Amino acid sequence: MKNIAILGSTGSIGTQTLDIVREQGDLRVWALTAGKNIELLEKQIREFRPKFAAVWEEDDAKRLRLMVSDLPVQIASGMEGLIEAAVIPESEILVTAVVGMIGLRPTIAAIRAKKSIALANKETLVTAGHLIMPLADEYQVPILPVDSEHSAIFQALNGEKGNRIHKILLTASGGPFRGRKKEELKQIRVEDALKHPNWSMGRKITIDSATMINKGLEVMEAKWLFGTDLDQIQVVIQPQSVIHSMVEYEDGSIIAQLGTPDMRLPIQYALYYPKRRPLSGERLDFYSLGSITFEQPDLDTFEGLRLAYQAAQRGGNMPTILNAANERAVAKFLDHKITFLEITQIINECMLHCKYLEQPNLDEILDTERSVYEWIESRW
Ligand code: NDP
Repeated sequence: MKNIAILGSTGSIGTQTLDIVREQGDLRVWALTAGKNIELLEKQIREFRPKFAAVWEEDDAKRLRLMVSDLPVQIASGMEGLIEAAVIPESEILVTAVVGMIGLRPTIAAIRAKKSIALANKETLVTAGHLIMPLADEYQVPILPVDSEHSAIFQALNGEKGNRIHKILLTASGGPFRGRKKEELKQIRVEDALKHPNWSMGRKITIDSATMINKGLEVMEAKWLFGTDLDQIQVVIQPQSVIHSMVEYEDGSIIAQLGTPDMRLPIQYALYYPKRRPLSGERLDFYSLGSITFEQPDLDTFEGLRLAYQAAQRGGNMPTILNAANERAVAKFLDHKITFLEITQIINECMLHCKYLEQPNLDEILDTERSVYEWIESRW
């Protein structure tokens, strides 16, 4: 029996993690958290019987307490609730499936409480990789990637300890607007950007895939997870999303991990690492697939990827500036307040104007997030 807690259990990764719990039968869930979707959280509490659950707003927590008053579950709210769920004594593994920088403090608390981290919440490493990775080392806590690309790299590194990586080939589908030019992206509607060709994901990451900012965030995530230099990470467009990423070694050998686009596989791999378990669902069929193709990313059209490389190269709090600006800009785009191309425009302006810090500590990272939000609110 493995004991787990899930932050963001009502989201895309969270619900797929619970699918695995259902399918495997030997995972025990001790804590669940949600943002606003208390109806789904109630169902999850009834089915999985956690000891603890949390939501963001105290008003929602009050409603939820009434809804599950027949069950022995403690309900909390806010950041304290997220942190309490992250460190619940009974769990060994924390699945960080919340979206955004909100995952930062609970992840740090969980590492200090010696929980293994199954990390989906890439924003944590993007903004604070320089704090998280040494902390995980200090507490000897594994950070197990859930992101499919990073899981693929992690799998391609198996048995290769001591061998030097020449290059990480981080694959990308290219999103729904692959092949289009900037001019053609002016009129993009929210509904168009939410149609990812291969993956079904939460709204924010789906927009991040359409702008290709997601791939930029993943470049930073890979740098921290695998300790490589930025110039060793090459983004390769692979439109069928069949090769989830590859590692090239010094001798020119390239090891890839392939599979259908199904997030349950990397989630399950992180939960049971290093064991593999059976998993239901479609298998890759090379006869019907026919071909796998590759392209170079278009950094003029998908400026977000270029900006992410710039932010990663500059380091310090620049990735936080990019990430916070992106989180706010994507929320505004989803609210129909700005256009698709304004997302990268806002990020660019924030990177030019917000205060740069070379070695930000946790408070300074959170201050940077706040000041980026304020700066955006004062202008858009
Ligand atoms: P979703 O938007 O589907 O889910 C986000 C989860 O976070 C929900 O449970 C949501 O709760 C919760 N949440 C949102 N805001 C708050 C808040 N203020 N307080 C507490 N909880 C909150 O996101 P995804 O599952 O798509 O993504 C989660 C993370 O995983 C992201 O970092 C993403 O980049 C990463 N990832 C996702 C992949 C995917 O396939 N979806 C693939 C690889 C990485 P509620 O819905 O109840 O409001």
